[in-house]
Amino acid sequence: MRFLVTLLFVLSLNQNFCQDNAPNIILMIGDGMGLTQISSGIYANNNTTALKSFEYIGLSKTYAFDRLVTDSAASGTAMASGVKTLNGVIGIDSKNNLQQSILEICEQRGYNSALIATSSIVHATPASFYANVPSRRQYQDIALQLSEHDVDLFIGGGKKHFNKRDDKRNLLEEMDQYQFVNSLSEIENSTSSKIGFFTYKDEPPSKLEGRKPALDDIAKSSLKKMESLNKPFFMMIEGSQIDWGGHSNDLDMVISEFKEFDSTIKHVLDFAKADGNTLVIVTADHETGGLTLSGGSIKRGIVKGTFSTKGHSAALVPVFSYGPNSELFKGIYENTAIFDMMLKSLD
Ligand code: MG
Ligand code: ZN
Repeated sequence: MRFLVTLLFVLSLNQNFCQDNAPNIILMIGDGMGLTQISSGIYANNNTTALKSFEYIGLSKTYAFDRLVTDSAASGTAMASGVKTLNGVIGIDSKNNLQQSILEICEQRGYNSALIATSSIVHATPASFYANVPSRRQYQDIALQLSEHDVDLFIGGGKKHFNKRDDKRNLLEEMDQYQFVNSLSEIENSTSSKIGFFTYKDEPPSKLEGRKPALDDIAKSSLKKMESLNKPFFMMIEGSQIDWGGHSNDLDMVISEFKEFDSTIKHVLDFAKADGNTLVIVTADHETGGLTLSGGSIKRGIVKGTFSTKGHSAALVPVFSYGPNSELFKGIYENTAIFDMMLKSLD
């Protein structure tokens, strides 16, 4: 009997720590990256994209609980936690229940975790993976929740929400398990189990304005770091500013942001191919700008775009998947199913 109890205890421990074959999951979100943003990026880039190497393609219905046209908070929450909620809300469902995110579930199962964004790290999309707040604009509350979270590596802008606060707290000092670095090489050389890299005090500038470091280099260093820790990991990488190009109705910005995201996808795929046990999902939270491609030239790599709104649209967005269980992501489904399928792929 005692043996049986011990055996069950050991088995349950094994459940909590990860199974030998537990896959890495890398979720890549191009904010505002609908099919026309992708098309523009392809046509303006020698008619090619890293997305062509994916194994399965699906379509995601992005609408929010209360609106046909979603925002990034509701759709981030849908993908992170599997529930439709109201626009503006992060990590809380329509009945006010706090939600656990896929990142948190992975951590419970012994995974490491990483969050990377080309916006601030407290912006709606990355926040959906660690925060629970009624309004996405509660940046200081979101920062506080990150400071109390278990995310192992985070890279993005928004330092001021941690050290220039209304409550006069300096969260950077309070986060004493973290090493805060100022370069990618420091990440690779760090022996700290928790690392933060604030790329900018506030929101980072656009790629066209010279944002550094490049997202593909950030991804490379982060993957090296995660790989060196010898545990499975969950990583979310956001190309945040494709959306901002859409809001500005600025096609050049959309294309330059997409290009950087696309070369990041290439590096992530190379990693996944070499690793053999990494599920990669590339999708968007919604389309931005109601972009139509109304002309241009393949030969000259020129695309003419017409925007129909300064906001988001309700168009379905594509989902590209590669690696173990990638076949789950084919078909047409709700954005909440992306959470369900990631969860399923853990078992
Ligand atoms: Mg975003
Ligand atoms: Zn937006």
